[in-house]
Amino acid sequence: VYPGSIDAAGQRATLGVLGGGQLGRMFVHAAQRLGYFTAVLEPDAQSPAGLVSHHHIQTNYDDPAGLAQLAHLCQAITTEFENVPAQALQTLAQTRPVAPSAAVVGIAQNRIEEKAHFAACAAVSGVTCAPYAVVETTAQLQAVQAGRADLLPGILKTARMGYDGKGQVRVKTTDELAAAWAELGSVACVLEKMLPLTAECSVLVARGWDGQVVSFAPQRNVHVNGILAVTHAYEGNMPAALADRARDAAVSIAQHIGYVGVLCVEFFVVEDGTEHGGLVVNEMAPRPHNSGHYTLDACDASQFDLQVHTMAGLPLPQPRQHSPAIMLNLLGDVWFDTSGHLQEPDWHSVLSLPGTHLHLYGKVEARPGRKMGHLTITGPDVASVQTVAYRVAGLLS
Ligand code: ADP
Ligand code: MG
Repeated sequence: VYPGSIDAAGQRATLGVLGGGQLGRMFVHAAQRLGYFTAVLEPDAQSPAGLVSHHHIQTNYDDPAGLAQLAHLCQAITTEFENVPAQALQTLAQTRPVAPSAAVVGIAQNRIEEKAHFAACAAVSGVTCAPYAVVETTAQLQAVQAGRADLLPGILKTARMGYDGKGQVRVKTTDELAAAWAELGSVACVLEKMLPLTAECSVLVARGWDGQVVSFAPQRNVHVNGILAVTHAYEGNMPAALADRARDAAVSIAQHIGYVGVLCVEFFVVEDGTEHGGLVVNEMAPRPHNSGHYTLDACDASQFDLQVHTMAGLPLPQPRQHSPAIMLNLLGDVWFDTSGHLQEPDWHSVLSLPGTHLHLYGKVEARPGRKMGHLTITGPDVASVQTVAYRVAGLLS
């Protein structure tokens, strides 16, 4: 899809996205910068991406007429959130290039299939996931209770629809496990052994239709209450050997399924001396990821630029990070003062600090736990970025 082109019928080269959240918004911005028109399919009238797109098709994700309109408007289509019905991508793929494919999105949507994929490429990737067992039936639950004491304490996670720590219960005993499974609705789950994490990191990979692969260096992530809070993106954010292993593993995980698009692979770093060799693969997201937002301000090509390039069949530049960066997520909590009253954060003070880049997603209402925006701090060296990050955190707390 040639950027900025207009066909004989006068139609502009248009890229489409299923989903209207903040990832879709930043995708739209990247596509528009290259001269593309954009179309967003999203039921919400006030969505972050719908508000900034040339076209907003306001239907459900699986609405046949909405999908037909999206295919009609666009030369290529992507997705921005992983719980989009894989069937919708399948339908679109009948007439348009869709990246990532319904098949890989389907794998990433189901922890059971996702772990099977990680196991299938373990020999090449050199990483395994945490020890786990599938709990889909009462018989499986009983078998795990009887024979998998090694998985306790553990985390019971729903196979589908989990995000930001939702759909997870921590369990210490077999009784707690049974109660947790009931609490989660007795749906398909995995019980994962609780690992002693020393850190978490993630790697963004972009792979084109022709198999060309580029990647970003691993970023180190700090989660609070299961939600990403801070991303550290600079040299020395983790031991170099571990970073190399994570990056290579993520690339092989993308290659092994013939992935096309931007993929984020999340890893746990565990205490040394375990059987895992220090690195464990956790999950993958078939799209740009919150932990890659710093690439907008700290790299010469962002994860959203690469998403556009992959789907449109443009060459993939190997991105270069030109500044150390720290990204702070801005949850709705920041909009409330200590007595619980709504109060606009002190952006004036924040933006007077050097190297602060504020991104707000245009969400109408701030709610605790809701991702309202993020703030990236860049600077000439790690120490000055850290200093500013502490001051920003102080202003926003
Ligand atoms: P989500 O889909 O909600 O991101 P994750 O599986 O990534 O779910 O879990 C969210 C967070 O919970 C992780 O980032 C990590 O901090 C913690 N966590 C998840 N699984 C484990 C585990 N097996 N051992 C220790 N901590 C874990
Ligand atoms: Mg996660």
